[in-house]
Amino acid sequence: MIEMDDDRFLGLLSQRLGAYVRSRDDVEDKVVRLTSPEELARSFEEESGVALRLEERQEETSNETLLSAVDALLRYSVKTSHPLFLNQLYGRADVIGVGADWTSTALNTNTHTYEVAPAFTLMENALLSKIGRTIGWHGEDKNEVDGLFVPGGSLSNLYGMHVSRNVVDPEVATRGSHGGPRLVAFTSDQSHYSYLKSARLMGIGSDNLIAVESDAHGRMRPDALEESIERARRDGGMPFFVGSTAGTTVLGAYDPLDKISEVCARQGGLWHHVDACWGGGAMLSSRYRHVVRGIETTDSVAWNPHKMSGAPLQCSVFLTRRPGVLKNANATNAAYLFQPDKLHGELDSGDKTIQCGRKTDMLKLWMLWKKRGDDGMASFVDRCFDLATFTGDVMRENEDLGWKLAYEPSCANVCFWYVPARLREDARRFLQVEGQGEGEQETRFSRELHKVAPLVKSRMQREGDAMIGFQSVNGLPNFFRLVFPSGDAIGQSDVLEMLERMRRFGEEEYEKFHRTSS
Ligand SMILES: *Cc1c(COP(=O)(O)O)cnc(C)c1O
Repeated sequence: MIEMDDDRFLGLLSQRLGAYVRSRDDVEDKVVRLTSPEELARSFEEESGVALRLEERQEETSNETLLSAVDALLRYSVKTSHPLFLNQLYGRADVIGVGADWTSTALNTNTHTYEVAPAFTLMENALLSKIGRTIGWHGEDKNEVDGLFVPGGSLSNLYGMHVSRNVVDPEVATRGSHGGPRLVAFTSDQSHYSYLKSARLMGIGSDNLIAVESDAHGRMRPDALEESIERARRDGGMPFFVGSTAGTTVLGAYDPLDKISEVCARQGGLWHHVDACWGGGAMLSSRYRHVVRGIETTDSVAWNPHKMSGAPLQCSVFLTRRPGVLKNANATNAAYLFQPDKLHGELDSGDKTIQCGRKTDMLKLWMLWKKRGDDGMASFVDRCFDLATFTGDVMRENEDLGWKLAYEPSCANVCFWYVPARLREDARRFLQVEGQGEGEQETRFSRELHKVAPLVKSRMQREGDAMIGFQSVNGLPNFFRLVFPSGDAIGQSDVLEMLERMRRFGEEEYEKFHRTSS
């Protein structure tokens, strides 16, 4: 057998990957072949001829075998490009975005200095300027925006909290957090857990991250925020940071950004960072821009184009309209890398980051935006929102079939229950009225309804059907959360057919459960 050389390996690999990326999965296909870890390890090895584990003494493997390993990997991975992968806030990657990522990898460039990443550096700056204009921070010519592409939205939120602390307490860099003011940050009780991680990591402490009450739709209450800030100050704390959310992870709720900025201004100019990781795309759309009303009044923004814009993971951006804060917080002036007397050294972005090396993630968004144009970027987001509205309408109109919205859809999230026929009578009593009591019957009903989503989910997993998450939050029984991160992957008829299957699974599984437990 002739050993496959690297050229041939790359040629065959790109053929396979190209076909995988271009294939528009039929809804009939399975989203995933679910197997136990043992079974997976066995099948992988049998089919590819290479074991997943690394041996005590690992021998070399031929290119041909590695190619078989890639085949097995494609077969046993979740098809996130499948129309029914609706589990997480990302989905099918755009072909152009994938091409951009491959290009980044092939160029293998580190984006810390202009010297090694000249074109990427200019692309990043061009995007920051464009996004800044989209947010509404500045006009065409001004360059009043700073930022970075960062490895994920969690990091982006960390950047927001970190640079704002450095603004109010610059000595923290030398003194450390001990012995300084007791800094207090505020976010809503629906916000992403990365705020909590940031507070822990920065030495703010979770006790000093106040979870501000949200309203019935999951939006931060500005009055509750103001009260919390005043209370913290009375207790000897020093409020410094408000982290709002534009599109919460579970409910898709948009905090009232304009009102929150007003509170921040009234309370002595607190830093207002908005986590727009999931719902930030609305700023691109003339139809949905109103949901991020006031985003132009914030100090910094986190946005994940790898969610709801079709950029492959990871593509995340942190922006601020306070140039200099990144450098002030992070610069260490490493003499071996950021020589001040080097040509174009002022364009080096590396010292603004908390990293050293940084991937060229900006290329994905740059190529997508150039390809689609502003209108295409907007209509991508519109389709995601429209699908959620459509699904919400279907559920509202079909309550007699067992559908019940847990929340009115906002963003591209739909939160709902399937109520099996056996529970429907009770549902009419307990799921309709707001602020119901905690009667014994109601508790029993909630306990039963709580079991339905896991039953349906596990049936769907076994069948390789749509991937959809469920959760129990805000004291409610488990409800499904359907998200549409990729509006061009799925159509209305796919949604209807999927709901019909969920309905059938709901009836069958709950009946089975009922028989065996009674
Ligand atoms: C996904 C998400 C994040 C975290 O983004 P990662 O890129 O996964 O770290 C933060 N906030 C919100 C609202 C999100 O939905």
